[in-house]
Amino acid sequence: LPGDPRTDVISREVLHACYSKVSPSVEVDDPQLVAWSESVAELLDLDPKEFERPDFPLMLSGAKPLPGAMPYAQCYGGHQFGMWAGQLGDGRAITLGEVLNSKGERWELQLKGAGRTPYSRFADGLAVLRSSIREFLCSETMHCLGIPTTRALCLLTTGQDVTRDIGNPKEEPGAIVCRVSQSFIRFGSYQIHASRGKEDLDIVRKLADYAIRHHFPHIESMDQSDSLSFKTGDEDDSVVDLTSNKYAAWIVEIAERTATLVARWQGVGFTHGVLNTDNMSILGQTIDYGPFGFLDAFDPSYTPNTTDLPGRRYCFANQPDIGLWNIAQFSKTLAVAQLINQKEANYAMERYGDKFMDEYQAIMSKKLGLSKYNKEVISKLLNNMSVDKVDYTNFFRLLANVKANPNTPENELLKPLKAVLLDIGKERKEAWIKWMRSYIQEVGGSEVSDEERKARMDSVNPKYILRNYLCQSAIDAAEQGDFSEVNNLIRLMKRPYEEQPGMEKYARLPPAWAYRPGVCMLSCSS
Ligand code: AMP
Ligand code: MG
Ligand code: MG
Repeated sequence: LPGDPRTDVISREVLHACYSKVSPSVEVDDPQLVAWSESVAELLDLDPKEFERPDFPLMLSGAKPLPGAMPYAQCYGGHQFGMWAGQLGDGRAITLGEVLNSKGERWELQLKGAGRTPYSRFADGLAVLRSSIREFLCSETMHCLGIPTTRALCLLTTGQDVTRDIGNPKEEPGAIVCRVSQSFIRFGSYQIHASRGKEDLDIVRKLADYAIRHHFPHIESMDQSDSLSFKTGDEDDSVVDLTSNKYAAWIVEIAERTATLVARWQGVGFTHGVLNTDNMSILGQTIDYGPFGFLDAFDPSYTPNTTDLPGRRYCFANQPDIGLWNIAQFSKTLAVAQLINQKEANYAMERYGDKFMDEYQAIMSKKLGLSKYNKEVISKLLNNMSVDKVDYTNFFRLLANVKANPNTPENELLKPLKAVLLDIGKERKEAWIKWMRSYIQEVGGSEVSDEERKARMDSVNPKYILRNYLCQSAIDAAEQGDFSEVNNLIRLMKRPYEEQPGMEKYARLPPAWAYRPGVCMLSCSS
């Protein structure tokens, strides 16, 4: 009984459908708007004065219907930690509808934590303040770092407590984030229907047609007579014609976007933490901020997710391979629905690999200020950084100050390492001096001046990132009712690549308390 609040949230398998109409059922007691993003408001042509309306918190928490909205929850499934997990969502996200802005763009508004849906399974459909703050802050930070992501319009507290029982049950303040994207469709939105047998394969096609028409219109309008053939890497030297099958062109574009996304994560040291196929956007955006984390000390095996131990499937260094694994699952789904053939599926995976390498090499070269990729210099550096636990963000920022002068004295050369110098022995110092000399030789051979190289490096190496301990400080204050730190961070992260006088303390290394569980690592269900 869609739309009937008494029955529309009964947990069940929803068959033969992509979504269920559902009304937000969150209980609010004095909802408060505590933070918002001006730039997302601008995307929506939303006058900032609207934030001051007394009924704004009611409408954006789902307590009062938003005029013109047609709330629904999407049906999707996914592979969790490598295993098919069946129907998963939307268990705690409810779409209000789309806003058509003056540029003709459609933006979907989605409330995360607004109550149960048919997909909530055993859970409550709610979200707690700490995880909502993390999603709000990180999605806006990622956008400002230049990394594709879902956005967040605003953060509200509901005034109601939510019970979370990780270990020992605890009441926590409830909150809602209004997420914004052009689409929240995931790989798992297709997988679920293909998993249900022949009868539902037509839904896979319909949802693919929908996505192409609305979000990949350039593929829809591709001239089928203007044939574009691509050589595959297969032994039989075959070609894939991307203009003869729009679904093949589509999966290739998704593979490339995903590869670009993952390469950018690696560039800034972002670890998503839960790269299940239901957390993979068809638009190639970062989606679902749960137990994510930015690297502090460089550690390829870093995972921010306690649920990911001991296997570390989703650790920092595995992300590129996991992206490919997820594309392989998605290709399989499209192949099962007979939208693409095996050759086209293979080609999409091949493109993922090639695109990832191109993007990653370009990003790492830019981070070091190299005019061309140098595998040896980069891999030696990363190896040194992991041995000596060097801070991934601050090192590159300091490296930009090194002069490309072969006579640079050793103490100058070691400046980018100042945070770890006391702890490393003579041998490690020598290893670093050797690397620095090879680096200077490499950058010294180019035409680019020291000043120009620094400017270029600073434009890709953030000065400020959303370190877990910064998030946690903002959460601690917010739980006491003080949202000033959340708002300070939103302001700071608007310009992560710029020096911001007076804000130096936000670029500091994590204090000792940052390494306690619950700060440096979180569980999936947070
Ligand atoms: P995640 O690992 O965060 O991607 O979660 C997997 C799925 O579990 C999500 O897509 C949600 O549908 C569901 N889920 C997570 N937390 C809740 C909750 N508190 N209530 C209902 N469903 C939830
Ligand atoms: Mg999810
Ligand atoms: Mg989640």
